[in-house]
Amino acid sequence: MNKQKSVVLYPGLGVGHLTPMIELAKVFTQHGVAVTVALAEPPTKSSDFSAAAARAAASNPSVNFHVLPPPDPADSSSSSDDTHSDPVVQMLGYLKAMNAPLRDLLRSLPAVDALVVDMFCGDALGVAAELNLPVYYFYASGASTLAVFLNLPRMMATGFQLETTGDDSVLSLPGAPPFKASELPEVILNGSQAGKAVLRVLYLFAEASGILVNTFESLETRAVRALRDGLCVPDRSTPPVYCIGPLVSGGGDKEHECLRWLDMQPDNSVVFLSFGSLGTFPKKQLEEMAIGLEKSGQRFLWVVRSPRNNPGDALGQPLPEPDLEALLPEGFLERTKDRGLVLKSWAPQVDVLRHKATGAFVTHCGWNSTLEGIMAGLPLLCWPLYAEQRMNKVFIVEEMKIGVEMNGYDEEMVKAEEVETKVKWVMESQGGQALRDRLAEVKDRAVKALKEGGSSYAAFVEFLKDIDSMADLHP
Ligand code: UDP
Repeated sequence: MNKQKSVVLYPGLGVGHLTPMIELAKVFTQHGVAVTVALAEPPTKSSDFSAAAARAAASNPSVNFHVLPPPDPADSSSSSDDTHSDPVVQMLGYLKAMNAPLRDLLRSLPAVDALVVDMFCGDALGVAAELNLPVYYFYASGASTLAVFLNLPRMMATGFQLETTGDDSVLSLPGAPPFKASELPEVILNGSQAGKAVLRVLYLFAEASGILVNTFESLETRAVRALRDGLCVPDRSTPPVYCIGPLVSGGGDKEHECLRWLDMQPDNSVVFLSFGSLGTFPKKQLEEMAIGLEKSGQRFLWVVRSPRNNPGDALGQPLPEPDLEALLPEGFLERTKDRGLVLKSWAPQVDVLRHKATGAFVTHCGWNSTLEGIMAGLPLLCWPLYAEQRMNKVFIVEEMKIGVEMNGYDEEMVKAEEVETKVKWVMESQGGQALRDRLAEVKDRAVKALKEGGSSYAAFVEFLKDIDSMADLHP
């Protein structure tokens, strides 16, 4: 009898990275593979991350969760980087220092066939090599950004600089429609220490045995073709790419008060506004949004977080609960209480999106949110904020044609009139209806891709076969 295959998944830090990795764990177990999830807890306690990890462990009894002990403070890689103030550099240094506990875990498990790591856990490749273990990436964003990112280390090494090319310079890279260089992640554009660290992370991608991508082929055909044809990693070979998504969480707190509120609203009538696990706005921007929503006359469900003192501190300290009365225009909550609900800090997003009363999604274009919007069949109003979200916005609007942008996202402020106009457009106009029809069709394709016989199902089976063949090379 064949022995049961066994894999270790290493999700790194952040809710947006953990959630889809847990969905991946479920797919492995559905295919009869034993799964251990190696959890690195964030150095700064994050209640969102801890809650997501606890929920994942409680609802997936067939997956073995192992919390890695924190790194030894004497570990040079953690202590030197801790002194660096940049949160990205700190995060990467911390993950590097987690190599020791990860190595201990991998050694303690009886027989592991493969290690699957998050995009930021590239330093674990060294551990896998030491232990003669095949290692794969799970890229929790889309194929289009992957195509661009694989190209970036060389592009930057050969002298590309935004300062010399200008904000409006257009990049034409294999696998992506032309887009403005200024849509690249800020961390890469500013030439900082963090940018260099991220480029190293991206460089390591091509060293893996393969890359699993949380997308489905028909959503990103141009990118998938370019990746397959090896056009995205100049001068090096591209590892096999497996599009196995969309892997989207099944939801959480079904009893949340906002779901009971949605029960009382008409079908397809509510605009949901939510900006990922980290998105925040200055008070002035929150006020503009509130005015726009009020003037639109539409029903809305809006997740509001406290503003950050330092907007660049996206991975920083947890935020206090917002004081809604103080943050939003005077009387706003009272005047809109019959048709609007404002939630503090967090919503059960997947359940909200899938509720029949929800009709459109104002999103920061995080990839999980994008896929969750697709699986709920909702038109997207795109308001990108950080990381690769501005690129996602380009692909969502121009390639996938499943959303429109909020003008002003890349300026100082999105004006109240823009919020009012776009929200009304998506809920009331023929254009909005056409977008909704398009989403229904894309959702249908996504569902088919995941079923037996679909492209994502087939890609996962092919990936499992690849692990088998690697076992012969890594006896
Ligand atoms: N999320 C949620 N409630 C919130 C905000 C976010 O459940 O109020 C979830 C959302 O459903 C998604 C994840 O957090 O699964 C955010 O991931 P995404 O890739 O969209 O953005 P990130 O947080 O990584 O920027």
